[in-house]
Amino acid sequence: MSQAGDGYDGLRITQLTKEFATFTAVDHLDLDVPRGTFFALLGPSGCGKTTTLRMIAGLETPTSGSITLAGQDITYAKPYQRPVNTVFQSYALFPHLDIFENVAFGLRRRKRSDVDAQVTEMLELVELSSQARKKPAQLSGGQQQRVALARALINQPEVLLLDEPLGALDLKLRRSMQIEIKRIQDEVGLTFVHVTHDQEEAMTMADTVAVMNKGIIEQMGAPAELYENPRSTFVANFLGQSNLIEGAVLNRAADIVTVDMHGINVSIPTGRSHTAGDKGWVGIRPEKVLIGEEGAELDAPGNTIPGGVVSDVSFVGVSTQYLVRMPWGQELQVFQQNTGRARIFGVGERVELSWRPEYAFLLDISQDAD
Ligand code: ATP
Repeated sequence: MSQAGDGYDGLRITQLTKEFATFTAVDHLDLDVPRGTFFALLGPSGCGKTTTLRMIAGLETPTSGSITLAGQDITYAKPYQRPVNTVFQSYALFPHLDIFENVAFGLRRRKRSDVDAQVTEMLELVELSSQARKKPAQLSGGQQQRVALARALINQPEVLLLDEPLGALDLKLRRSMQIEIKRIQDEVGLTFVHVTHDQEEAMTMADTVAVMNKGIIEQMGAPAELYENPRSTFVANFLGQSNLIEGAVLNRAADIVTVDMHGINVSIPTGRSHTAGDKGWVGIRPEKVLIGEEGAELDAPGNTIPGGVVSDVSFVGVSTQYLVRMPWGQELQVFQQNTGRARIFGVGERVELSWRPEYAFLLDISQDAD
């Protein structure tokens, strides 16, 4: 490892590229992960997230670019020379050792003293003290994953890499482990880099999410920022559901643009530059749309779109989900919270939709990546 001298104390990736034969899996990636934060690399299968993680771990050699950690250049360092540990989906525990010895393994190999105290503390952190003398096969999947986490954390790495660690668990256990891992990260204060294709998982756990697509980062930010202000149709669709309606910018006054959406004008606050004549997608999340009787005053001030006809209704417990066919032929999704007060509409009823201007976002059509 050599001194990078840039003074950055987190994980810094600069112009990182990995080519396999003629295929570019990771393409000039730049990202900074501040020390002590929880960072998620989120994207569909094949987008290059595992290859990125493997380069950070030293399991894959970059074609070009650099990786520095706490100011040290680790781009070409051997895996064991880096202060990095990885937790995989397959827990890779030693089946013949008990839980205590699985966690103690790294410390014993490095001939550390105070092994017992450290392992005891780590088992407390992952809430497995009572299981210390069991063998891995006697534990549930979630418990085994916590042993794997403890075994990696006890080495006190600068960065802990998590490669789809919850992929083998059922949905309910997955959700509780997400909260559990986040709690552990908060407690130990280490940098976690988590790879997943599950948007809900990334948003639940991470301080910062980077959405990857075809080897590049499409957008990076806090979960709520990405959800509320996606900058591409790919991000809008990957993070939950979006209605995307084609429109053209009519004018812009201060930070509000007026968009002609199939003959209906809507206004959208935007900090980005859009000029008259630009084509765009008006994006609106289904849960931000209000549905009401045609001609009735809806609660939301702002954008009202008349002329809808309900084409599908499904009751899903917390919400009623509608498909509403608009005059221009497109079906829009509307999720209405079941508060017990809202009127439920039936198939064939005429309705109007409405949303507050600040809930919509405007995307450039030219930015379409998918
Ligand atoms: P998944 O969630 O399916 O693991 P991923 O986003 O982690 O996907 P990567 O495993 O990083 O994707 O792979 C990115 C691309 O690089 C894929 O198209 C994959 O086929 C290709 N790739 C990965 N490893 C190799 C290799 N050793 N040789 C050739 N191509 C590879």
